[in-house]
Amino acid sequence: MIVAGELLLERPGDADRPVELASGYVRIEGEVITEVARCPPPASADLGGPGCLVAPGLVDTHVHLPQFSLIGAHGLPLLEWLEEIVFPAEAQWADAAFAARAAREAAGQLLAHGSTAVCAYSTIHHEATAAAIEQLAAAGLRGVVGMTMSDRAAPDELVDDPARLLDQTADLLDRFPPGERVAAAITPRFAVSCSAELLEGAGRLAAQTPGAAVQTHLSETLDECRAVAAAFGGRGYTQVYADAGLLTPRTLLGHGVWLDPQEQQLIAQAGAVVAHCPTANAFLRAGDMRRDELVASGLRLSLGSDVGAGYERSMVRVARAMIQTASRLGDRYPTPAQAWAQITHAGADAAGLADAGRLAVGAPADLIVAKPTIDWQRGRVDPLARLLFAWDDRWLRTTLCRGAVVYAAA
Ligand SMILES: [Zn+2]
Repeated sequence: MIVAGELLLERPGDADRPVELASGYVRIEGEVITEVARCPPPASADLGGPGCLVAPGLVDTHVHLPQFSLIGAHGLPLLEWLEEIVFPAEAQWADAAFAARAAREAAGQLLAHGSTAVCAYSTIHHEATAAAIEQLAAAGLRGVVGMTMSDRAAPDELVDDPARLLDQTADLLDRFPPGERVAAAITPRFAVSCSAELLEGAGRLAAQTPGAAVQTHLSETLDECRAVAAAFGGRGYTQVYADAGLLTPRTLLGHGVWLDPQEQQLIAQAGAVVAHCPTANAFLRAGDMRRDELVASGLRLSLGSDVGAGYERSMVRVARAMIQTASRLGDRYPTPAQAWAQITHAGADAAGLADAGRLAVGAPADLIVAKPTIDWQRGRVDPLARLLFAWDDRWLRTTLCRGAVVYAAA
């Protein structure tokens, strides 16, 4: 199969402009990209053609599968929003068949917005999480899904015994090991709803399971930080995770809005990643993450939709929100090229999904074809900026995973 157009390609070694557009085509044989050619786009391509954008499938490094059904519950702070909106929705996943349907629907929405790789949370339910992993894999997605563990400070139906939760997560890691197209992840929800025993057990499991992704939330709102300090004898939020062995180069920490410089250092030294979720932070009025400060500390960043606090399913829109948040806070903000990199290869690298997010020979053929309805290739404005800021979800025509069409616009 030949997919032609303006290819969004990685530019190694250029921090300011880590991606570029080049006319050409991608050849797909089976599930893999076997050729990336720079040339005038052939008019006889199987997909795309002149004027089309051909980009790697987008990477969403923080998303909650059971929360697609509750996007839009505006006006509540985090802890109340969890209690009133999120927990009742997640309790429905006790029914694994319901969870399978919901995960299939979420996968469809992700693919229809161009996301082909995700780092996702399910719920506390063991079989529902297995079903969600199977559904995402069947839909063609790449990534990890974690059973969201809690043993306190949540409704009775959403807490369990730490030993059982850890056994169930270990079982999922056996069934869906690291390296699988969709693998299980070690996912304590956050320190508010996890005891030290559960966090330490999760840290031990991470040490025993090479390559397994670790996900949790960190320092999203001030109320949450205060709740963690109260529960852990005044210890810093990041320190709680460090003490439990949860800060690893495979760890994705959702949010990181209120990190002080010492916490930033701790995360940077551990090589862990903060998954920045600008739309969700705005929605819950959590605060604005100071991206320039975190970058300057040497800390690695990725980007997440955080559906359902995040109301945008499109990672292009989330990338735009990242620029808007950073530019409102100061003078140093990401360029459009950096934003595109963040939702493609840079996001994939940060999340440990190194075969995702790139149009490269040997990579799985996970890509999107968009046909913008604006004249984006001419004029004085950087085409990457035109595409990012004028982005219209209706431009997305086709999403491919492993060489197969998994979404086609009507
Ligand atoms: Zn989240």
